[in-house]
Amino acid sequence: DRILEIRKQSYNPMTLKATYYKQPVYIHQGYMQWLWDTDGRRYLDFFAGVATVSVGHCHPKVTEAAEKQLRSLWHTTNIYMSSPPHEYVEKLAACFPDPLKVIYFTNSGSEANDLAMLMARLHTGNYDIISFRGAYHGGSPQTLGLTSYSAYKFPIANGFGCHNTMCPDVFKGPWGGKNCRDSPVQTVRDCNCAPGCCHANDMYIEELKEVLSSSVPCRIAAFFGEPLQGVGGAVQYPRNYLKEAYRLIRQSGGLCIADEVQTGFGRTGSDFWGFQGHGVIPDIVTMAKGIANGYPMGAVVTTKEIAESFAKGLHFNTFGGSPLACAIASSVLDTIKEDGTQQISATIGTYLLTELAKLRDKYEIIGDVRGKGLLIGVEMVKDKESRRPLPAETLSQIFEDIKDMGILVGRGGTFGQVFRIKPPMCITKEDADFFLAVFSHVIQKYAELT
Ligand code: PMP
Repeated sequence: DRILEIRKQSYNPMTLKATYYKQPVYIHQGYMQWLWDTDGRRYLDFFAGVATVSVGHCHPKVTEAAEKQLRSLWHTTNIYMSSPPHEYVEKLAACFPDPLKVIYFTNSGSEANDLAMLMARLHTGNYDIISFRGAYHGGSPQTLGLTSYSAYKFPIANGFGCHNTMCPDVFKGPWGGKNCRDSPVQTVRDCNCAPGCCHANDMYIEELKEVLSSSVPCRIAAFFGEPLQGVGGAVQYPRNYLKEAYRLIRQSGGLCIADEVQTGFGRTGSDFWGFQGHGVIPDIVTMAKGIANGYPMGAVVTTKEIAESFAKGLHFNTFGGSPLACAIASSVLDTIKEDGTQQISATIGTYLLTELAKLRDKYEIIGDVRGKGLLIGVEMVKDKESRRPLPAETLSQIFEDIKDMGILVGRGGTFGQVFRIKPPMCITKEDADFFLAVFSHVIQKYAELT
């Protein structure tokens, strides 16, 4: 009732929507992987504020570091030096391979991507930027041009010199294409050939070549890619795709940018950064979300050479890299190591993927299970043959039922048809089993109905 009341109030922007419509959730408190609503109901958080709460809600060590810093210094702007940013920058740089060593701070992922775009344009002298269909790179006017999601996209966003042109007809036609060119999902399996075929890879490389040759030669400033698409629904690239794409982009004079806003800080389990799983080293890496466990912060890391080109420009960000944000982020990095969260992501992530794949084989309405570490997508379909998404109403009912049984998950994909599983990286096998029991129970109900 309280939420319905708030929604009616005139100062609530029309764009602000609660995810749960039947009975919205009003969160009151959080601890590690748990959230409590105002009625005292406990939820297992399997979305973590969109992969933001990396080490756990109100993690005691991080909270202690924040409290300590709150009592000494919050903010100075970056015109003065102070020890938290100074110490943190060194710690963060040590997490990157050479030559990625120069770090800039922002307050969000969108700001980090804006900065990366500006850097690439200044460094190359070029303007055009390529991103993937299904990509999400932010909600600022500049990054909207990179974000391919129709729901986030305004017609004006196209005017900013960004191409989401890799697969231009993604929003046309029905979902259920039989070959990989018709399908908006870009997994290797999508071509319906034998597992491991390179059909999809060749096809996407051809598309990239088309995009590059249709642009005026050498106008490409950068190529943006999430190492594993987050909002798009845990979409993975075909094997070796990114390696070949990086080669082609560099050949055309562009820079390669990895958006690690969701994939960074060990979220993919086997690697600390998602790009490492592709055997590439980007020219610029952007990060946010998990960096400070939910406290607003973003960062960009690049090479000395690009930083030198950028030094001719201006980087000023009033709040970016404040002593408070850096003290929190620094404690998050320590906690990731001390609590072994990357390892948890790898082992529990693999366990979840394996068990979910069994459910996929059992139920017709689970079309695909994909992802890496604790960044998992479960794609819901009417049936495996048509591969059309489940009707919106059914998707929402499943989503609400999972919540009613005490678990919060996310939704993504073009039609909201992908359940997104991105818990804080402190979950246990018991939590994973609880999720699997709830999920299969709910799915069984709807599988019987369809
Ligand atoms: N990049 C990616 C991959 C994201 O998932 C997001 C947010 N969902 C952003 C950038 C934008 O980050 P922010 O909302 O902090 O601006």
